[in-house]
Amino acid sequence: MPRQLDSATRVALVERVRFYRDLGLTEFYRRPVDPALLAAEPELSAQPETPGAPGLASETWEPASQPALFADFQPANSHQVHPIPTRKPFSAPPEIAAAIPPAGRAAALQLIREDIGDCTRCPLHTGRNKLVFGDGSPVARLMFVGEGPGADEDAQGLPFVGRAGQLLNNMIAAMGLRREEVYIANVVKCRPPGNRTPVPEEANTCSPFLFRQIDVIRPQVVIALGATAVTYLLGARQPLAGLRGRVHSVRGTQLIVTYHPAYLLRDPRQKKEAWADLQIAMRELGLKPPARG
Ligand code: SF4
Repeated sequence: MPRQLDSATRVALVERVRFYRDLGLTEFYRRPVDPALLAAEPELSAQPETPGAPGLASETWEPASQPALFADFQPANSHQVHPIPTRKPFSAPPEIAAAIPPAGRAAALQLIREDIGDCTRCPLHTGRNKLVFGDGSPVARLMFVGEGPGADEDAQGLPFVGRAGQLLNNMIAAMGLRREEVYIANVVKCRPPGNRTPVPEEANTCSPFLFRQIDVIRPQVVIALGATAVTYLLGARQPLAGLRGRVHSVRGTQLIVTYHPAYLLRDPRQKKEAWADLQIAMRELGLKPPARG
């Protein structure tokens, strides 16, 4: 008879399994893992604090103290990395739209927003409070793409405004930029129930709007935050570990892959790896970290 786990142990177990899955390590499971277990993203506020580790769950970002480990990145152990099989085909992305002069980009984004309207194209609209279109500069050189809105974002109609958003703001500041200078959007624009990962039908229905946003803004660099973002940007499901550390291409722009800030809140030890990813983006953008005063 299976042993019942208390909620704290269950949350910790889910985090550990998700951590290994994000690294592309899937061979250690003794039994098949219920996809619903991984899809159910616990609320961040429900994360247990670790006794004796002050600041472990904080939004602080201390890149200057983090060595650049990008060149040496290897999976954390010797397990073989296998691609995660794709069960559903990805929709073909729309053709890249013609470039729009910078002065017309705000209006072009507004047109996309009007096209979306009070969207009911996928089931996510049923639980939506506010649709989260995107936020930032229409002429941004750097764009971040996350997975989908959480509870705070759904309430405010803006992307990355909760604790993960605070950490993203700190990551942006560490790069020497202000949030208003970048653009932030998600693969899906309505909150999945319980913060679960969007299913392919939802992501494939919504992502053409994201592609249109990228085509309008034409950033020099897109940073994909987490596995879902890079999966739908590249149209292929691959382990995050195999995608980090190099420059990819999406819709004629450079694509760099790093961890989702919510994941970094759960496992702050990965911040140094994320900083290595951000440094690749900074190199491509010709940015230098701000001097520490
Ligand atoms: Fe429409 Fe996207 Fe919301 Fe689905 S997630 S209802 S496609 S805006």
